[in-house]
Amino acid sequence: MVDPTSDIGEDVTEENAPECEQCSSKIIQSTSHRVVSEIEDGRAVHHHFCSDDCHDEWLAA
Ligand SMILES: [Zn+2]
Repeated sequence: MVDPTSDIGEDVTEENAPECEQCSSKIIQSTSHRVVSEIEDGRAVHHHFCSDDCHDEWLAA
């Protein structure tokens, strides 16, 4: 049986979509979406990237 209400996490819209840290594009239901978590000043910070390429460029910067 298929439950059509079980698609949790797929209701991302332009309004709440994160932006890629490298190229600033909105990340909406991207399968290549990458999230890197770091501790900065004692709190968790999440860096979003639209792809591995952007993540690599950000690391290299
Ligand atoms: Zn990007």
